[in-house]
Amino acid sequence: MIKLHDKQFKPFLSEGEIQEAVKKIALQIAEDYKNETPLFVGVLNGAFMFVSDLMKHYPYDCEVSFVKLSSYQGLTSTGIVETLLDVSEDIEGKSVIIIEDIIDTGRTLQQLVHLFSDTNVKEFKIASLFYKPDVYNGEYAIDYVGIEIPNKFIVGYGLDYNELGRNLKEVYQLNHTNMINLVLFGKPGAGKGTQAGFLKEKYNLKHISTGDVFRYNIKNGTELGKLAKSFIDNGDLVPDEVTIKMLQDEVEKNSEAAGFIFDGFPRTTAQAEALDNFLESKDMQVNATIALEADDEILVARLLERGKASGRSDDQDESKIRNRFDEYNQKTAPLKNYYEGQGKFHAVNGIGDITEITERLSKVIDSL
Ligand code: AMP
Repeated sequence: MIKLHDKQFKPFLSEGEIQEAVKKIALQIAEDYKNETPLFVGVLNGAFMFVSDLMKHYPYDCEVSFVKLSSYQGLTSTGIVETLLDVSEDIEGKSVIIIEDIIDTGRTLQQLVHLFSDTNVKEFKIASLFYKPDVYNGEYAIDYVGIEIPNKFIVGYGLDYNELGRNLKEVYQLNHTNMINLVLFGKPGAGKGTQAGFLKEKYNLKHISTGDVFRYNIKNGTELGKLAKSFIDNGDLVPDEVTIKMLQDEVEKNSEAAGFIFDGFPRTTAQAEALDNFLESKDMQVNATIALEADDEILVARLLERGKASGRSDDQDESKIRNRFDEYNQKTAPLKNYYEGQGKFHAVNGIGDITEITERLSKVIDSL
């Protein structure tokens, strides 16, 4: 295990495995380009080690150059790709092999393809040492792939976590064993949002409220917001497909988090199963599901009171509130059995002083 900045990383690929993949790519390219002199264009900074080793394994004539783009900040792809160092002028008529350390979503790749489409090169191909097929959503097929990897955050062999780790000969992955992921469970008005606000500070967790994310999207008139609006206005659940995708995006956006509080998710068995599978694919898991329990009549009163202050239309109309309870009883309540079956269900009395309830929840979390 190694530590870079605030995070622990554990071994993922050995030096031998990496070198074998580098050699494989070098020989594949050599086979295709033995009768000409290809120009390797490394993508800085991450690909510098790969370019260097690739060239050492390359048996024929070749040239090298570099470009620099940027899309990573911290642990997540920001989606903004800038050109920091452009292709040099004299590449006309050349066969260019773009050398990437890693391809995940494909946003950087798209920018690269764009960069080279505007030039008079003879042709260009893409070689990437690491490739994440699960998250790649570009159109361009990658010509040479070293190793396909799952969607883990990795460092080493040129790849960094906030600039550290590039000098490692091996590749390491983020270690999640200290992570706490909680599901806050309970009917509308049970106090999930309020308590999540305290717990996220106390335990340094990222709070994801699917209701908040929907409302944010509605307010900003996004496609997702338009899609969700009628369901939410009626107090119905938004379809699983939409909600699951949204939740996954929120987790992906926060891969540096020390843990998550899922508030308002899952609300159906399909969502719970999707969450388990998704977290497992990232070496993560739900550690506990904590239910805040309270009586329907108290909840109705609380929601109507909240509706006056917040202006939320689904909190102002008792029939909509009752409909949300019906949705809960039919679709969400069965999750109690689901999590009990996994030994992860904990119930907490949700009536009382706010700080008192935080104490009850903390007791469960501290016992994990
Ligand atoms: P909340 O703020 O958690 O009470 O959520 C408000 C509304 O957003 C709900 O009544 C649903 O229409 C929608 N919503 C929030 N989370 C989910 C979910 N996990 N699945 C389906 N719909 C959801």
